[in-house]
Amino acid sequence: MAQALTVVLSQTPSKDPRRQSLQEELLAALLVESGVEVGVVPHIYDLSDDHTGLLYLRSIPGPLVVLCWVYPRPAYWMLYRHGVRGRRGRVLLVDESLDGDADEPREPVRPELIDDLPDRPIYCIDLRAADGAEAVLEEIRRIRDECAAELVQLTPLPPRSEPAVPQKHNGQTPRRWYPVIDYSKCTNCLECIDFCLFGVYGVDGQERILVEQPDNCRRGCPACSRVCPEHAIMFPMHKNPAIAGGTDPDGGGLKIDLSRLFGGEDALKLAAEERDRELIKAGRAPVGAISPPKPSRGAPQPAERDELDDLIDQLESLEL
Ligand code: SF4
Ligand code: SF4
Repeated sequence: MAQALTVVLSQTPSKDPRRQSLQEELLAALLVESGVEVGVVPHIYDLSDDHTGLLYLRSIPGPLVVLCWVYPRPAYWMLYRHGVRGRRGRVLLVDESLDGDADEPREPVRPELIDDLPDRPIYCIDLRAADGAEAVLEEIRRIRDECAAELVQLTPLPPRSEPAVPQKHNGQTPRRWYPVIDYSKCTNCLECIDFCLFGVYGVDGQERILVEQPDNCRRGCPACSRVCPEHAIMFPMHKNPAIAGGTDPDGGGLKIDLSRLFGGEDALKLAAEERDRELIKAGRAPVGAISPPKPSRGAPQPAERDELDDLIDQLESLEL
C-alpha cells in the first residue's frame, strides 16, 4: 500500500474573496481525493516556532505538498528553517510570467551549510500561479502519482469511501516580516550579519548564518536582500518578485533584468538609505553609506599569487 500524500493548505492572510473561494473549492475537492490526506494551517510565513500548525507540519513523515500564497522557493526555505525538511520536489505549476527557474531545485553552492535532509519530497505550490482549482488539483494528482511511482506501488490506490477529516490548526497569527535565506545559494560570507544593525542575523554552533531574531526585522524594509552578493535573502511578502524569491538570479533564461530589480548599480546606495530610514524611525543615528563588500569571511578565498605563479606565467610567455 502506498504512503498517502499529505496536502497542507497554508491559508491566505488576505481577505480577498477570490482567494477565499479558491481555498474552499480546493479543500472540498481534496477531501474526497484518493491517496491524499489534508491539513490546514495559517499562512506559513506568520507561524511562530511553537505554533501547533508547525508542530503538525513537523509531524508529517511522508511526501508533502504545501499550498501557499508565496513563491515556492521562499516557502521551501521557510519550512526548512522551521524544521519541516525533505528534498525539494519539482513543481510544474508555476507563474510563467517570471520565467526565472525559481522552481528548479538546484545543487547547493556549499552543501555543508545544509543539514542532512530526510529522503522525502516537499512540493510548494504557489496558489497565485493557478487560474483555478482544477489546475492545482491536476498538479496534486501528478505529484501523487510521481510519489507513488517512487515507492514502487504494487496495488492501485482504492477509491476513498468517505471524505477525509482535515487536520485543522487555525487560530490568529500576527503578521510578520523577516528575511528567509536560500541555503542552496548562500556562501556564508556573513555580509548580512555585518550589515544588519538590528540583530536579526546570527550564527549557529557551526558558524553558519541564520535568521536568529526574525521579529527584530523592520517591517517593509528589504535592505539586506540588496546587499547579499548571492541574492540568497528573500522577503516573501515584498511586492518586487526578485526580492520576494519569485525569480532565481542564477536560474538562467530570465525575461527580466534581475540586477535592476534589486537596485542595479545603486543597490548598495538604496540599501544604505533604507537602513538609515529604519534607524531614524527607531530613534537611532543613521550610519550612512556602505563600504564595498569585504572579502567574504565564510566563502572559499581565491589563493594568493606567489612566486611559483609568476614563474609559471614567465614560462608560458616563452611558449616552451
Ligand atoms: S549575505 Fe547572503 S550569501 Fe552572505 S551569508 Fe548572508 S545570506 Fe549568505
Ligand atoms: S531588512 Fe533591515 S532590519 Fe531586516 S534583517 Fe535586513 S538589514 Fe536587518
